[in-house]
Amino acid sequence: MLPEDARRWHYVENRLLRVLLSYAYEEIQLPLLEATELFSRGVGEATDIVEKEMYTLADRDGESLTLRPEGTAGCVRALQQHGLLFNQTQRVFYTGAMFRYERPQKGRYRQFYQIGAEAFGFAGPDVDVELILIGRDFWQALGVEEHVELEINTLGSGTARAEYREALVAYLTPLKNELDEASQRRLDNNPIRILDSKDPATQALLSDAPKLPEFVDAEGRAHYSELIERLDQLGISYRENPGLVRGLDYYTHTVFEWITTSLGAQGTVCAGGRFDGLVERLGGRPTPAAGFALGLDRVVLLYQEVHKTLHRQGNNRTEGNFAAAADDFAAAADVYVCVMAEADVVWAMRVTDQLRRGLPGLRIRLHAGGGKLKSQLKRADLSGATWAILIGEEEVRTSQVAVKFLREETAQQAFSPEALIEFLQKHAVAAIQVRGT
Ligand code: ATP
Ligand code: MG
Repeated sequence: MLPEDARRWHYVENRLLRVLLSYAYEEIQLPLLEATELFSRGVGEATDIVEKEMYTLADRDGESLTLRPEGTAGCVRALQQHGLLFNQTQRVFYTGAMFRYERPQKGRYRQFYQIGAEAFGFAGPDVDVELILIGRDFWQALGVEEHVELEINTLGSGTARAEYREALVAYLTPLKNELDEASQRRLDNNPIRILDSKDPATQALLSDAPKLPEFVDAEGRAHYSELIERLDQLGISYRENPGLVRGLDYYTHTVFEWITTSLGAQGTVCAGGRFDGLVERLGGRPTPAAGFALGLDRVVLLYQEVHKTLHRQGNNRTEGNFAAAADDFAAAADVYVCVMAEADVVWAMRVTDQLRRGLPGLRIRLHAGGGKLKSQLKRADLSGATWAILIGEEEVRTSQVAVKFLREETAQQAFSPEALIEFLQKHAVAAIQVRGT
């Protein structure tokens, strides 16, 4: 990620992390490498991830390790190992790189970034609602709420799911030869995932297949209708999608995805649900759990896409709207300090120190390497800075600095360092807020 991309990426990440902190979720930092077995058990043998996407290597003593393809399994492993799941509740989030051997394309990479949140110890739908509210706040914080839609479904309890699985296999087995290749394989090891197939012939066969909602038991229906009721009361719009399933067998009850149509094929920007079966499957006591994982790369792309359009329409800077235009990330510095004479460099360093202390959040670059004013100003322009500070003999003698406005037709002005700080505090606030530094 080159500097301009990294600036935009951090801006988006910061906004999202602030939302999680506002819900008092706590950060957990997980290792990049875990025992391979954690994922084959925790994600499931019959999933795309474990079947064909993991980067697995042998340690020097022959232990099989895997670069984490997702965060949930590691999160459960860590909390359990430290006795933080039994008889208590946890609300945590993680952020970082994940690795999957995929066919790289726009929005799909082999090293990608997720922000995930997980809540443990809550059986009711209130926490499912909370996780959805966090998503709503994410999109608002980035000004992309008009471009993302929520889809929800329920898988019912573990028993309902098992019964459905049997019914689906009974229906599809005689039709096996008409299914696409991947679905034929899944018929044996992960049949519910067939509902996810993009193959038109398979989808046609599925139209007469038993429907998951018909198998959801009373407990599952109660959980789901409470979820729906709360979303309605809170004015959260959603679309019910009975075909929405998650790849992993331990998912139960609520599943949801936030989807955008602004990114082409890779439209799911955040996916989650309830996975009451996972902790037990990883050797702990049964513990209700729910969470989501957000694809940060895709969210950054979405952010860029949406604000590029806004910028073209010229309304990117409405008051109180923190969503910066895509162009705001082009600048590497806000202020560029030019110093004419070698003899004045130390004086310039002192003044620059003073500015940095007085103007936290502003990026102030001091020219290095000498040279003529003209070439220094060229560097200032390239840095994207809004202001150049000029320090010459006259300025040093009078303890003043001259400010040149690089992006507007305003005459050069002279300030004492203190007055300059006051001036920039007034004028740079918008820049700092927009960038979120
Ligand atoms: P997909 O169907 O797109 O492969 P998935 O079901 O494998 O998604 P999850 O494991 O649910 O994805 O991961 C949660 C989110 O992480 C996805 O919704 C997506 O936004 C993001 N994501 C997953 N894989 C990648 C990838 N290879 N590159 C970029 N983002 C990804
Ligand atoms: Mg995938």
